[in-house]
Amino acid sequence: PEAARLVASRVLDVPDFPKPGVLFKDLMPLFADGVAFREVIDGIVAYHGRDGFDVVVGIEARGFVVAAAVAYAAGVGVVPVRKAGKLPRPAHSVSYALEYGEATLEVHEDAFTAGHRVLVVDDVLATGGTAEATLDLVERAGGTVTGFTVLLELGFLGARQRLAPRPVHALLTV
Ligand code: IMP
Repeated sequence: PEAARLVASRVLDVPDFPKPGVLFKDLMPLFADGVAFREVIDGIVAYHGRDGFDVVVGIEARGFVVAAAVAYAAGVGVVPVRKAGKLPRPAHSVSYALEYGEATLEVHEDAFTAGHRVLVVDDVLATGGTAEATLDLVERAGGTVTGFTVLLELGFLGARQRLAPRPVHALLTV
């Protein structure tokens, strides 16, 4: 479909970023192209249905760009999942293992209304550690995750299996 073709044609491969040996997928050219960006956002809303979710969660930082646009297009609100220490009020925390060390993500304790259906979005799905922590965090804060969408999934890293049985929707899988 058109959204997949647009992601494929607007992603740039950056070797050795953020460290040697890593091939970074840069989606900034997609965000910067107004026609492509709108098509991709509309594709996400169409997939889940305009009435299929009550709030959108974006994962810091590139996920915020996607989440705010999806939320606006659907007429719902947006909730940020942030890195440790950024939120001003009491928050739930989930820590997860990185290749070297650990990362912590947080969400405000009062971020979700009971029974609200939460759509989680991010730009790239790699190992799935960030997504797994985020989905746990949303549930801990009382949200019900009804969808998870990324623009680009790196399929060979096995995140889909890691997150199972929770559904993963990717506009493009490579
Ligand atoms: P994971 O936890 O290994 O799945 O990594 C996914 C998280 O790291 C997401 O929040 C992405 O924004 C970011 N990320 C990992 N790899 C890339 C990449 O190649 N391009 C852009 N973001 C990436």
